[in-house]
Amino acid sequence: MTAQRQHIHKHIYPLRGFGMALGGLLVSAVLYEQQAGWPEWAFMVLSCLVWPHLAYLHARLAADAHRAETRNLLLDSAIAGAWVPLMHFCLLPCVVLVMVTTFDKLSSGIHRLWLRSLPGLVGSGLVLTLWLQPEPRWESSLLVVVCCLPLLGMHTLAVSVSSYRLIRTVARQNQMLEALRRTDAHTGLFGRDHWLQLAREAFDRFRASAQPACLMMIDIDHFKTINDRFGHTVGDEVIRAVGLILRQSIRPSDWAGRYGGDEFAVVCPGTRLDDALAIAQRMRERIQAIRIREVPELQVSGSIGLALASDRHPGLREWINDADAALYRSKHGGRNQVQALAPG
Ligand code: GH3
Ligand code: MG
Repeated sequence: MTAQRQHIHKHIYPLRGFGMALGGLLVSAVLYEQQAGWPEWAFMVLSCLVWPHLAYLHARLAADAHRAETRNLLLDSAIAGAWVPLMHFCLLPCVVLVMVTTFDKLSSGIHRLWLRSLPGLVGSGLVLTLWLQPEPRWESSLLVVVCCLPLLGMHTLAVSVSSYRLIRTVARQNQMLEALRRTDAHTGLFGRDHWLQLAREAFDRFRASAQPACLMMIDIDHFKTINDRFGHTVGDEVIRAVGLILRQSIRPSDWAGRYGGDEFAVVCPGTRLDDALAIAQRMRERIQAIRIREVPELQVSGSIGLALASDRHPGLREWINDADAALYRSKHGGRNQVQALAPG
């Protein structure tokens, strides 16, 4: 059970206190107009002014505050239902009270609470109707109408503010989810799918502008042996270190991603082959300099394949294939090197 669930009463306490006080104003106006006796006035004080504090204490002292607060919310509805016959069915204040309490249950976010509140609401109203048999007085005076306004206004404002906050929270969380979806958790680089999308955009821009663009595939050498000799934890650390090197070696306009396993990919839009070669060589040197504190004897190296985008590439796939072919050459040329493919 989350801490937030267990603190629900702290959140509800001021809202209930304020809402019940405004409800008390509305009820008092009706009681005054109807020249009610002391029992109704006593019930008004008890339900509108004392009850919110009792409800808070009840939830605070309960072992399960969330359950206790749910019971309190149900009791709120039963109290509102009781006021319907006590106000002689005076239409406007009765509708306002019943609507406000029922909508509160909806906005509490507790599953079907509004439905569960209906038996208490209807039940208390029915019992008091049968017991007291009040004569209906439907109409409201101007005083009663005016006394309904603060509750209506404040309730609308409170609901609007809380839905505004909710929308902002959901939007923020959606952004975080989207960032997580795009990112490879291990390295902080883009995940394969998102990187492919960025590479496709870079290829389309190359087609549209004829500005040069380069693509690199980087693969750690003999990574299986690293895993086998030093364990997967060390292997993971090497992958993280390579990810960091790529992030630090590229420019803000380049995109680096984890292509899968021990393979990485970088797309450099607006970059000539010479410049991309210099970036790739720097990366290779930095990978070679990786040292893991627990295993100082570990030597790491990476092979890099580079391909310049060309009009001869029908699409992204062929561009990637060329970078892969260059990587293959690096591997077969003895690893720890950069090879480039620039179709003429
Ligand atoms: P080569 O020099 O030809 O690339 O040889 P290699 O041993 O690196 O061969 P390859 O690239 O095919 O090996 C990739 C290995 O990486 C296989 C897989 O067990 C391991 N691997 C893939 N993802 C992870 C990971 O997230 N962590 C660790 N520790 N190992 C991984
Ligand atoms: Mg490898």
